Amino acid sequence: MNGGCQPAGAAMTPLPLVRPKQLYAGYIFDLDGTLYLGDSLLPGAQRLIQALRAAGRRLLFLSNNPTKDPDAYAAKLTGLGIPAVPAEVLNTVVTTTHWLRQNYPNATVFAIAEEPLQRALRNAGFQLSEDPAEIDIVVASYDRTFEYRKLQIAFDALWYFKRARLIATNPDRYCPFPGGRGEPDAAAIVAAIEACTGVRCERYLGKPDPYVLAAALALLDLPAHQCVMTGDRLYTDIKMARDAGMASALVLTGETTAVTLSEAGDAERPNYVLDRVDALLPDAVWRRAGWTNPAGLTEPVTRARRDGSSL
Ligand SMILES: [Mg+2]
Repeated sequence: MNGGCQPAGAAMTPLPLVRPKQLYAGYIFDLDGTLYLGDSLLPGAQRLIQALRAAGRRLLFLSNNPTKDPDAYAAKLTGLGIPAVPAEVLNTVVTTTHWLRQNYPNATVFAIAEEPLQRALRNAGFQLSEDPAEIDIVVASYDRTFEYRKLQIAFDALWYFKRARLIATNPDRYCPFPGGRGEPDAAAIVAAIEACTGVRCERYLGKPDPYVLAAALALLDLPAHQCVMTGDRLYTDIKMARDAGMASALVLTGETTAVTLSEAGDAERPNYVLDRVDALLPDAVWRRAGWTNPAGLTEPVTRARRDGSSL
């Protein structure tokens, strides 16, 4: 086991690294903070996916981020050097649209969302409206065009007319970026709406909601016990897998640090902890592939957060 990937000078919390000893039939991967950060692949991501494909394993890329649709994610992954097709991608654009179609097929929707989710809802036949008097569902999401005007519409629909229900794409607090920075995510939008209306968000259509895992497993056509979920967040990626009794692997290249992991309770912990995502492959696969430093840092992660904690 490797001693860690902390930059010199950072507070040293030992990384409790635990790697799988076997391959799984299916692999579900988070994207931001797991396979890439911003527009850069994380160390080992490319060769991991290549090796899994060569071994005939089923893959699914699962993101809570609704600012792209599966076509755009597949294009992004392919452009970064991980060839992928839209059918291998599931994100909250898809889960939110499908859930609304199943539960509120005739709803008039106000989507605080960027164009990919707006387009998916329109294509699914929903009437989109900014008239609070006719809005049935307010969808909050990771929307970088959020403004006071949108908050007012949500406020009027939920608080003044008291006819709308509030749902959201995902509960993430922020989206991680390279260099330890990040961007406010859907949790911030939900919090703004809840704060002024007193209305609680009824449903999040992203990880860790079991609806999302069921959709992912349906796409993989595999049962949960034959799959492993890999991600960088305890409260979304790992929680979803744990709730389903499915194996989970936390990679310390995104939100969760060795420090925050050490503070987590037993019920929040993953089966595996990785300092880099290709450590998801067992030692035997590393040896067969001729990779020489199984838990090591051939491409060191040297980013430090602004608060001085390490990744
Ligand atoms: Mg992530």
